[in-house]
Amino acid sequence: MNSDFRPVEAGNPKFLKKLATMGVDVHACFQCGRCSSGCPVADFFDLTVMQVVRLAAYGMEDILLQSKTIWLCAACETCATRCPNEIEIAGLMDVLRSLALKKGIAPAEPRVPKLHRSFLDSVRYWGRAYEVGMLAAYKLRSGDLACDMKLGMQMLTKGKLKLLPQGIKGKAEVRRIFAGKGKEYER
Ligand code: SF4
Ligand code: SF4
Repeated sequence: MNSDFRPVEAGNPKFLKKLATMGVDVHACFQCGRCSSGCPVADFFDLTVMQVVRLAAYGMEDILLQSKTIWLCAACETCATRCPNEIEIAGLMDVLRSLALKKGIAPAEPRVPKLHRSFLDSVRYWGRAYEVGMLAAYKLRSGDLACDMKLGMQMLTKGKLKLLPQGIKGKAEVRRIFAGKGKEYER
């Protein structure tokens, strides 16, 4: 028997409760496969989308938190749109990524959270993404200095990337939101 798979009753009830409070009803899944067949990045996943939903329904948190799939999901919502049971699969992926970080589980795709962090730092500082600064921060974090240089140069010459940052007026409000004190949190 594959040691990765345990009986259903071994699932983590706390994990299932968290999914329920987030409004992600994984038990509504009847494994039709529409989510998996529509996912644009499915070829890169180590677990299919429908496997993620089924493992979540079994409370198999450990396998999910160590998978590449949760980090490679592009949050495009195609799966949720195609799901006949309106299961919030992109939301489920969010919950799983957040849990993996909280539990200190090393991401199976370490470059992805580094890019997320660089993006969020850029938005916190400038009020919007400053792509050149964000990519420089990502390259320093990941050590992947040469990646996509040619593409970056092409985008610069075509004016698709701005060399200098362009902040927004409401930067202070954005920073308050990041600190958990913005209007978004007062509603
Ligand atoms: S589309 Fe919905 S019901 Fe069908 S397998 Fe995916 S999650 Fe389950
Ligand atoms: S949200 Fe993620 S899992 Fe769903 S279709 Fe998009 S990339 Fe695939």
